[in-house]
Formats: sequence, structure tokens, C-alpha cells
Amino acid sequence: MGIRLADYEEIVGREVIHEMYVLAERVKSRRLQNINSTPVGGGVAEILTRMIPLLRELGIEATWDVIKGDQGFYNVTKAFHNALHGKREEVTDQMLDVFRATTEANLRDMSISGDVVLVHDPQPAGLIDRKREIGRQWLWRCHIDVSAPDARVWEFLRPYVEQYDAAVFSMPDFAQHLPIPQYMVAPSIDPLADKNRELTPACVSQVLEKYQLDPERPIVTQISRFDRLKDPLGVIAAYKMVKRRHDCQLVLAGGGASDDPEGEEVLREVEQQAAGDRDIHILLLPPFSDLEINALVRGSTVVFQKSIKEGFGLTVSEALWKRKPVIGGAVGGIKLQVINGVTGFLVHSPEGAAKRLAQLLGDRALRARLGENGYQHVKQNFLLTRHVKDYMLVMLALDHPDEDVVHLE
Ligand code: UDP
Repeated sequence: MGIRLADYEEIVGREVIHEMYVLAERVKSRRLQNINSTPVGGGVAEILTRMIPLLRELGIEATWDVIKGDQGFYNVTKAFHNALHGKREEVTDQMLDVFRATTEANLRDMSISGDVVLVHDPQPAGLIDRKREIGRQWLWRCHIDVSAPDARVWEFLRPYVEQYDAAVFSMPDFAQHLPIPQYMVAPSIDPLADKNRELTPACVSQVLEKYQLDPERPIVTQISRFDRLKDPLGVIAAYKMVKRRHDCQLVLAGGGASDDPEGEEVLREVEQQAAGDRDIHILLLPPFSDLEINALVRGSTVVFQKSIKEGFGLTVSEALWKRKPVIGGAVGGIKLQVINGVTGFLVHSPEGAAKRLAQLLGDRALRARLGENGYQHVKQNFLLTRHVKDYMLVMLALDHPDEDVVHLE
């Protein structure tokens, strides 16, 4: 039998589950249709996979559809993604035309079945054009760090975004000047998913052995798509600085996402940098390697998420939940999760990362303290139950557009 809402009671307490049912009573008459651009790979797909069954158990008819696009479209939207993160990208008129054409095709082919249509990220944002014709409530859910977006891309997207009934961002830093309400909802991890649930030591050992990792020596890990914004080369640089004095092994584990065309090129750069060092393990994991990722993190001494830009970084909460100290880039949503000196360390450079890695490798008590704090921090703030509750609150707010406070009788 699958996981039930009641199974979360043991972790989050009865009260939280009760509140979810109270809220669901107010919103469950509506169909909630999620639309994004990839069924697998990356944080959005990860969250939707876990969230839809819980919403359904609460009586909300939640569905999930994926837009169609070809390689040309995903090259354009990846450039948009990078540009919205503030990276310099050349965006031509022709690229904007590709975006418009794919949007047109999806507008023709996609059936909009939801009473509330929850559109994730820029790729499907143009579907809002359907609103004029069919009405419904439309929410744009932005998972990207848009605190300093490339002006051209943001101004191109803005007319779409402004037509939504509301926008949802992961943290206040990402809020925009928009004429529509904006809600702040942090992402979450599922503590009962294969990626996060408790594992036996034997299961962890088996996976370490499979990948020829030595359990007796420290293991430092980053789990990420091979994407420049995740800075895998910075991780290797930090590891190399530390390796001279502290023995350790480095794991860079990642797969691809179907809407990310850059992965292979970045992987080649990573392989070049790692060449000749038998202690650097580059693992290309197929989709649905959740148990293995879980075991790799549980078998690690320290976890990196050294991103240069990051909307949230589910991998951070995934590691903190396993009581691992995290060294994270001091950017975007990582700052919500890594409280410097409390749940891990925030860094600004490979040198900074190296310094913190050396410190953590040399201090078991510090690792244990940060790990415990991290677990508590995730338990309070970044579990799926809180996330589902927040979405129900946003649905409720959509029904009361002119009220600052919605009273639940
Ligand atoms: N992930 C995975 N396999 C991989 C790399 C990442 O399953 O090879 C998962 C990772 O554990 C996390 C999600 O994909 O749950 C990535 O989400 P995150 O927010 O960290 O980054 P994004 O890829 O969305 O930028």
C-alpha cells in the first residue's frame, strides 16, 4: 500500500495533519491542474511526484500535465532560465519566436481541466493566453532565483506573468514589482520518500560498495544535475585544496533532466577536471535512483551544494534531514536552509568551501551538532506537509482576492 497522510503524523504531529484536513474542507471542491515542462529530473518534478498523491488523499483533484517542446525550445528556455538567474546570455528575437511558437502549439493541444491552473516556471508560462477564453484561476509558480534577472528576458515574460491571478515565489528575496498578489512558499522534501526515508546501515554499505567507495575514509558529496550554476568545478577545486592535507573521497552524482540540454557539455568539463584522481567518483545516475542517492548522502561525511545561483536546492534539505552538515553557496534558497554556523556553512568561493570542508573533516563534534540542528530546521520548515498546507492556503486566498485576512470558521 502507498504512503498515507496519517503516516506523517509520527513525524510532524497530529495537529498538523488535522489542520490540513480543516483547510482541505474549504478548497477540495476544486480541481488543481499542475503544468510544467519535464516529468522527471530536477526539483519541480521531484516535488510534484510526492505532492499529488497527498493532495488527492485530502480530496483535492490534483493532476499534472507536461507541455511538449523540441530541443530548440528547451535550448531557448534553458537560456531563459540562466538569464533569469542573472547569467549573461544572448537572447535573440529568433529565440523569442521559438518560445512563442511552442507556446502556440501547446495552447492548441493542451487541455486545461483545472479550476485552478498552477503553472510552474517560465517554460509553460505562455499558456495564460487561454485565460481570456476560459477564465479559471491561474497561478504562476516560479522556482527560479529571479532576484536579479536579465532585464530583457524578464520584460519578455512579464506580460504573461501579469495576467495570472497571483504569483508564488520561494522566498521574499525573489519578489517582483507586479500588479498581482505574490505569495511566498518555500519548497519541501518528503521524509517518507525513498530518497529520504531511514535506511539500514547494511543498505548504505551496499551502495557505497557498489560505487567502490571506502566507508572507512571520509566521503564528501554533491548531488546535482551537471549544470554550471551548480558549480561542480568549484567543488572539485575545493576538494583538491583540501585533499593535500585531509584524506577524503569526492562524489559528484547527477543525472539529467529532459528540459536541460547543457548537461553533457558540463559533464565533459567535470570529467576533464577529475581525470587522474581515483578518489573523485563521477556517478551518472539514471532517473529514479532515489534509494541510491539516499544511501550516498547517508554514507557521506559532508555534503556540498556549492551553487552559484539556486532557487531553493532540495538537495540541501535532503542532506540536512539526514543530519549531514552542508557547505552551500551563499545564494538564493540555500540561505533559507543553511544557517551559517548552525546547520552548515555558507561560502562564496572554492577557497571558502575548502576552508570549511577542512574544518568539518577535522571536527566530528561540530559535524554532529550542525547535523542535528539541520534535521530540526528541516522538520520545522521544509517538509511536504507544510508545503501542501501552504498551497491550500494560496487556493483559499485566491477565492478571497480583496481580503488581507481570510477567516476560517
Ligand atoms: N536528483 C536526482 N538525481 C540526480 C540529481 C538530482 O534524483 O542525479 C534530485 C535531487 O535529489 C533533488 C532534485 O533532483 O531532489 C534536484 O532538485 P534541486 O532543487 O536540488 O535542483 P534543480 O535540479 O531543481 O535545480
